[in-house]
Amino acid sequence: MSVDEWCRFCHKYLKTLGIFSHSTLIFGVTGKAKTVFHRLVDLGLTLRKSPERSMRSCRNCITLLSRIERDLAVFRKWEVLEKQADSNEGALTSTTSDKGDLD
Ligand SMILES: [Zn+2]
Repeated sequence: MSVDEWCRFCHKYLKTLGIFSHSTLIFGVTGKAKTVFHRLVDLGLTLRKSPERSMRSCRNCITLLSRIERDLAVFRKWEVLEKQADSNEGALTSTTSDKGDLD
């Protein structure tokens, strides 16, 4: 039995009738698409390759990852807007001599 037979994230058993079904190699490159590893790095999570931890993910967790990416993009936008608003407020309370456009 290998750890790769389970999903790294939800620990679901990935084999059906002895073969892998609907699983993705986390560190594997499939065509031009980004690896699951790189997608997670972009989200702020760096996975370590370890013989004790699975290198595979089930399809559900990949779907979840896509949702996190989509939702986090909105979250990042909120962050940017908040920071812009903060720096605008800062600019208003400080001297009015600086008139640089933030756009
Ligand atoms: Zn999973």
